[in-house]
Amino acid sequence: MKIRQAVEDFDLTELEKLHFDLESGGKHLRELVKERMEELNTHGKRICAVCGEEVGSEGIELTFGPKELRKKAHLCAYDCLEYFITQLRERQL
Ligand SMILES: [Zn+2]
Repeated sequence: MKIRQAVEDFDLTELEKLHFDLESGGKHLRELVKERMEELNTHGKRICAVCGEEVGSEGIELTFGPKELRKKAHLCAYDCLEYFITQLRERQL
């Protein structure tokens, strides 16, 4: 199991940090996992956040949200971007 391998590679200091993070809700680990997923996503297929179509090279990448909760969305065209922003405004995300 790969997660077990990763944990076995940690030294005691790293494990203590991870343990502290998990005890306090795992915010840091969650961020790391999310960042890595986004990283991998940008090298793979990008899906429009509105219509679900595959986003090509002409697509739009939008980064939004407060600094500590930064999110990224891919959009296929300006009408989807417009719709997305309307949704953001309504939900105050
Ligand atoms: Zn779209």
